Amino acid sequence: MTSSAWDDAVTLLREHDEVALACHVNPDGDALGSMLALGIALRDMGKQVVASWGSEPFEIPAAYEGLPGLDLLVPASQFPASPALLVTFDTGSVDRLGALADRVAAAEHVLVIDHHTTNTCFGTVNVIDRGAAATAAVVVELLDLMHRPLTAEIAAPVYTGLVTDTGSFKYAATTPSVHLLAARLLETGIPHDEISRQIWDTASFGYVKLLGLVCARAVLEADEVGGLGLVWTAIGADDLDRYALALSDVEGVIDVVRMAREAEVAVVLKTDPEDGLLKVSTRSKGAVDVGAVCASLGGGGHRFAAGFTSDAPLSETMDCLRRALAETPHLAT
Ligand code: 5GP
Ligand code: MN
Repeated sequence: MTSSAWDDAVTLLREHDEVALACHVNPDGDALGSMLALGIALRDMGKQVVASWGSEPFEIPAAYEGLPGLDLLVPASQFPASPALLVTFDTGSVDRLGALADRVAAAEHVLVIDHHTTNTCFGTVNVIDRGAAATAAVVVELLDLMHRPLTAEIAAPVYTGLVTDTGSFKYAATTPSVHLLAARLLETGIPHDEISRQIWDTASFGYVKLLGLVCARAVLEADEVGGLGLVWTAIGADDLDRYALALSDVEGVIDVVRMAREAEVAVVLKTDPEDGLLKVSTRSKGAVDVGAVCASLGGGGHRFAAGFTSDAPLSETMDCLRRALAETPHLAT
């Protein structure tokens, strides 16, 4: 990426009084956090800001209900049809915008802010830092370039994105600059302990029950992934219904399943109650590029955390995935 992309982004944001923000479907902490952070900063500059995502239900995931800036959100049905400036967050490709995907062609300018290695650069201006730990960190880089202050209101959603995408500062993406950024965020006085507790340590009793159920049905296939091992489980729409859970409530299941040391790759297949499609989450421990594997199956993500969406039945989807994992080269670790 050229430095002029950053300059062009700053110019676009300065010159527009109305800005429409969109993040990927079924937003996680980084998608929502990065979008709210820039949204608050733009509103502080006196701009009209709306923010949304293109999947149902349009409900704030429980973990993020306390974040500032939620009043910027509008349902996709109220999102401008042809915004002068559309800004996308944490979105590697147009299809990840779901119901808002058509706004990319309809907008006059599209600014893409992201950190996915698989980003297709679908914007008129693309600010993509593939080395960044989170899209929220890219937003802070932009705000610094614009000489905008990092207020506590902005720092809280940024911290949410950073803590989500680094797995609480555990993943390899946790560089010294991540900790330096975290220090800046904490200096604003944000309730970081409460933010983390909501993300990692708070769930309904129904979730605890569901966790037991889906872990009990997990399967270990030691011969898969060229002998490195595969562990997987599935969450049906009936499971979610039984325990009154939304898809966004079960994001953390993969973090439990992937603990199994016998398997290099962990997979959770979730049936989306809205569209009946399988949302497949994959994780590896460093010997396999699951990002490339998921990209070959129509999805994307990062090297060691990626996903794809499948309209095939579960057993067929697993067969395709097993085949792709068996063929993928093993990385030097
Ligand atoms: P998760 O498994 O937590 O849903 O997602 C892990 C990573 O894979 C995230 O960076 C996410 O954006 C990406 N990802 C998950 N599902 C899909 C998908 O269906 N398509 C694409 N392109 N990326 C996905
Ligand atoms: Mn992200």
